[in-house]
Amino acid sequence: MGSYDRNSTESPLLRLPAELRVRVWRHTLGGETIHIGVHDNVIKSCICQSPVSDADKASIIKSLDEPTWYDTHPEHHLKCQLAMRVPEKLRTDSAPCLSLGVLASCRQIHHEAALLPFKENIFHLGQEPIEWLGNLIFEQAHAITSVVMTSRCCSWADSVMKTEFEDMLRGLKTIVMFEGTVANWKYAELRGYIDGDGMPTSKEPILMLENMPIEKATVAVYRSDDPDYERQGANKAADNRWADEIERRLTAPSDGLS
Ligand SMILES: [Zn+2]
Repeated sequence: MGSYDRNSTESPLLRLPAELRVRVWRHTLGGETIHIGVHDNVIKSCICQSPVSDADKASIIKSLDEPTWYDTHPEHHLKCQLAMRVPEKLRTDSAPCLSLGVLASCRQIHHEAALLPFKENIFHLGQEPIEWLGNLIFEQAHAITSVVMTSRCCSWADSVMKTEFEDMLRGLKTIVMFEGTVANWKYAELRGYIDGDGMPTSKEPILMLENMPIEKATVAVYRSDDPDYERQGANKAADNRWADEIERRLTAPSDGLS
C-alpha cells in the first residue's frame, strides 16, 4: 500500500468528512493578516501583530471628526515592520511567519488545502505588490480574496500595473485602502487626480482597480502633512467624501468596457 493510501485510511484527520477537514485547514492556515514586503530585493512576509484589524482601523479613522495623521499607520504596524526585518529562520513566536508545513505533510492535504492560505488570509501589500504577485503561480494569485493597500502600493500606477492586478487578483472581493497623499489637495488637483470639487478623477491611481469584482471597499484618508492642507480648503468632511466616492466606484459593477 502506498503512503497516500495508507495516510487516507489510517490518519484520523484524513478519515474526517472532507468539509470538516477543510474547516480544520481554514483554522490552521487562514484568519490572519499577512504583511508582504520587499527588503533588499527579497520578498518577506509576516503575520500581523496588531490587535486591531485594518478594516476596523479604517472605519474608526473615517468616523472621527478630526483628521488622523499618516504616522499612526506605521505605528499601528510597528511590531510587524520590525519583525519583517528579521530573517525568517531567526524569527521567534513574537514575529511569526505563516506556517505552511502542514501542506507538505501529505499529497491529499496539499490537494485540499494548498490554496487556502491565499483564500482565507488578508494580504497587507507593501510598496512593490507586483513583485510579490509575479512570484505566485496563477492559481495562488487568483485565490486571493482580500487585500489591504496604502497609497504607496500604487503611487505610480500605470497601464502595465493595472493589467497585472486585473490578471492576478481576479478573485479579489474585499479591499481596505489607506490613502496618505490625496489630501495634499493642490498637488492632487495639479496632477489631475481630483477635480475642482475634490472628487477623484479617473487618473486617481487606486481607480485602476475599478473593473475588478470587488464587493466591499473601505477607504480611509489620512491627513496630509502639507502645511497648506487647511488653506487649500481640505478638511475631514472633504476627505471622507473623496473616500466614499472611491468606495462607490471600486464596488460598482463594471460595464466591462474599459
Ligand atoms: Zn501589522
